[in-house]
Amino acid sequence: MSVQVVSAAAAAKVPEVELKDLSPSEAESQLGLSTAAVGAMAPPAGGGDPEAPAPAAERPPVPGPGSGPAAALSPAAGKVPQASAMKRSDPHHQHQRHRDGGEALVSPDGTVTEAPRTVKKFPRSGTGATGNRIQKPEAQYHTQIQFADQKQEFNKRPTKIGRRSLSRSISQSSTDSYSSAASYTDSSDDETSPRDKQQKNSKGSSDFCVKNIKQAEFGRREIEIAEQEMPALMALRKRAQGEKPLAGAKIVGCTHITAQTAVLMETLGALGAQCRWAACNIYSTLNEVAAALAESGFPVFAWKGESEDDFWWCIDRCVNVEGWQPNMILDDGGDLTHWIYKKYPNMFKKIKGIVEESVTGVHRLYQLSKAGKLCVPAMNVNDSVTKQKFDNLYCCRESILDGLKRTTDMMFGGKQVVVCGYGEVGKGCCAALKAMGSIVYVTEIDPICALQACMDGFRLVKLNEVIRQVDIVITCTGNKNVVTREHLDRMKNSCIVCNMGHSNTEIDVASLRTPELTWERVRSQVDHVIWPDGKRIVLLAEGRLLNLSCSTVPTFVLSITATTQALALIELYNAPEGRYKQDVYLLPKKMDEYVASLHLPTFDAHLTELTDEQAKYLGLNKNGPFKPNYYRY
Ligand code: NAD
Repeated sequence: MSVQVVSAAAAAKVPEVELKDLSPSEAESQLGLSTAAVGAMAPPAGGGDPEAPAPAAERPPVPGPGSGPAAALSPAAGKVPQASAMKRSDPHHQHQRHRDGGEALVSPDGTVTEAPRTVKKFPRSGTGATGNRIQKPEAQYHTQIQFADQKQEFNKRPTKIGRRSLSRSISQSSTDSYSSAASYTDSSDDETSPRDKQQKNSKGSSDFCVKNIKQAEFGRREIEIAEQEMPALMALRKRAQGEKPLAGAKIVGCTHITAQTAVLMETLGALGAQCRWAACNIYSTLNEVAAALAESGFPVFAWKGESEDDFWWCIDRCVNVEGWQPNMILDDGGDLTHWIYKKYPNMFKKIKGIVEESVTGVHRLYQLSKAGKLCVPAMNVNDSVTKQKFDNLYCCRESILDGLKRTTDMMFGGKQVVVCGYGEVGKGCCAALKAMGSIVYVTEIDPICALQACMDGFRLVKLNEVIRQVDIVITCTGNKNVVTREHLDRMKNSCIVCNMGHSNTEIDVASLRTPELTWERVRSQVDHVIWPDGKRIVLLAEGRLLNLSCSTVPTFVLSITATTQALALIELYNAPEGRYKQDVYLLPKKMDEYVASLHLPTFDAHLTELTDEQAKYLGLNKNGPFKPNYYRY
């Protein structure tokens, strides 16, 4: 049976994306959009078992004999299950964190240590002309490191002052947030807790708790701007007019509440879901956006500057509702899942699945799975190919320039730059700087990446060889102490030093806090560190991720993530009984491809279709998946 999916392509007048060859039962039950998601599980032409995505234990983490390019071209390649549960034993995943505000540690023996979900303590902020956050310099120095007290009872309500001091854990190496959107109003002057306010939206509903419902109009504008750069979600919405693949879904969500997640939430609503939402980060909520969502009828419980106590209270208000019980979870960081496990374990009887975005949350799910305590299927969207590519390579390619420009107003042409690490992030940084006319050097430890750097036209050097001459040093290794005090001592006057990797230990910033050196805060996120002889280096964001601290994340990047989340929810919600077991699954490859295809119309891109003959020759289904799981993009 052939079912045609009317995709984003239709909306943008470009060739259709067709996901054909679904089994009759799948097609019957999942017409249209939901077919897209379920169709992603359809077997490739060469065979394969769409009904039984293999859990971790059944799948080798690395390709075994017969894998590689030749196998990829053979029909057998199609036998690789598309949704796969993957163990976090891959060293690539060790001690990783992404823009989820959390961190998870994996020891060499593969043991996962659950790191507390941590959040950024944003100082009170104003807004610049572009609407982007400008932090007050003095506030930077007051960021403290604390650890969340998970045992804090949500109903022991502290005083206003108490609430502030109860802030969640604030770790300098984990202070990143997806939130980078504009804020029209600095409502921090209003000290009344939203929990103490009586608010109603224009339809009379008070089933929400936001800072100020009157800010809804501003928030709506932010959402409308985000919609422009989120084509895939908008396309899904258009398609949803006739069909509701999430009809009956009751989704409880815990994510950053920004304009982009609002677009996701409203898309889920358009697809038929009922949603209740809390913030996964106490500082990242855009109050205006939360207000706009509440105004349009979404029960949202979130505001910027929640206390620890507020945080759990908001989550509880989403979950603990009379006459309403969630059947799907969308989590970013694992706190919501944790809360339900802890407080309402019986709810899992009705929950069909968990979709988790963050590194931290995914680690927690793998831990639960390992301990045999995961009682529903979970989808790890963090490691989907498209999302990873956009987060690491493309996002950094754009935001490195943005971050450097906003902090230093520098000109890139002719500047000598050394980029440490030529992985995905390093490749993005190098490409952007090269395009701007900078002279780029690369350091690497891995000969393969090193050779790639050479082939891309970069000079491979040791840091020591160029440290005296370069104008900018950028670390993106995921490693520690890549730039040491010795390097810092040898840098020339005015050298700019910054980090794009996950942790603030790539540059040994701590070694600069010695009495003979003077620190001068010259701008928000910009310090001059001055040596006794007058030499100064320009340290950005105190060695934390430059782009997340000093620039915005492009909405298009977030569009990829949000679309991935939406499709994962549709897939888990509609999957026939038994397709997914109580394990953690990667997004089916075909769905990953579908996420990408939904974004192609933006570029008026015309995808070539395989002929029958070609498909047979390559041993592929004409509609994908086009690559085996081990393919390196
Ligand atoms: P990657 O593993 O692809 O690349 C890192 C590279 O650094 C590797 O090639 C490795 O060989 C090299 N390396 C390690 N130690 C080194 C050393 N001492 N000197 C020189 N090179 C060294 O990882 P990636 O995807 O490029 O991510 C890099 C870091 O950036 C990670 O910490 C990741 O979490 C983070 N990240 C940041 C953003 C962002 O928005 N800034 C986005 C995604 C990932």
